[in-house]
Amino acid sequence: MFDRLKQAFSSIATAVKEKELSGEGLDKAIFDFQLSLIESDVAQGVAEALTAEVQKSLAGTRVDRSADLSEVVGERLASALKAAFEKAGTVDLAASVREKSKGGEPYIILFLGINGTGKTTSVAKLASFLKKRGLSVVCAAGDTHRPGAIEQLTEHADRLSLKVVSQRYGADPAAVGRDGVLYARAHHVDCLLIDTAGRMQTNQNLMEEMSKISRVVKPDFRIFVADALTGNDAVSQAELFNQHVGFDGAILTKSDADVRGGAALSIVYSTGKPVIFLGVGQGYDDLVPFDSQKFLGSLL
Ligand code: GDP
Repeated sequence: MFDRLKQAFSSIATAVKEKELSGEGLDKAIFDFQLSLIESDVAQGVAEALTAEVQKSLAGTRVDRSADLSEVVGERLASALKAAFEKAGTVDLAASVREKSKGGEPYIILFLGINGTGKTTSVAKLASFLKKRGLSVVCAAGDTHRPGAIEQLTEHADRLSLKVVSQRYGADPAAVGRDGVLYARAHHVDCLLIDTAGRMQTNQNLMEEMSKISRVVKPDFRIFVADALTGNDAVSQAELFNQHVGFDGAILTKSDADVRGGAALSIVYSTGKPVIFLGVGQGYDDLVPFDSQKFLGSLL
């Protein structure tokens, strides 16, 4: 996973080692680094901001002749990235669900994201993840638009022995969400996972629909689901959902097939929200908590 991005990071250090930490040599090394970030699927705006940050922190730095320049650049990069990931924070969803259920109230999670990113599969994976940790889960079929969406969620839920709250196609998704909340309360279920529609992100109606569900059900946590393989698209979708609806953390699916790795970095850097899980396959167990320290450690 993420090999391209790892190469980009090691190449800046080597380039600088050969070129001195000032003037044209550094500019060229920084420019090449920016290109290799973009080639690794880091969004252009993020690549520019990150390199500008590193360049600024290097400006005027006096380095001992004997010092290893690549180490200096590596350190600056590491601190810029660490700061972004630390600011985004970390989330322990199972602990949050457990905490809220102590007060007798269900923890409500709203899923957001466009069709095909792996949203419904991620709902099922997270349900399985929470169930394995001893928590009870119910799902709500909030995509009342796409033909087959309700059946698809129900099929996953049947395999995991979970209840699905649903209405007919064309029903108001916010009403489905509310039904889910009422069911979870009445049956003392620890966590409600609400699947939603995902017509193209440019569709204003979709944003309005998501904002409405969010206002009605007042979720404790909003998860944005992104397909790592879509690179720049994943980042612009994240920015759009963040701006119009807001989200609290992201799941990056199909990371098993992602050799570039730029999406995780771009989403965190551009939205300030943490990646909380990586989808690493099609099975229910293929959901792993995202470890930012490990991720950064492998890059730097
Ligand atoms: P939705 O339209 O966003 O609800 O997408 P689906 O949940 O139907 O997933 C679309 C396709 O992506 C399905 O074939 C899933 O099995 C597949 N998929 C979802 N998550 C992952 C993942 O983490 N890795 C891989 N390799 N495939 C995934």
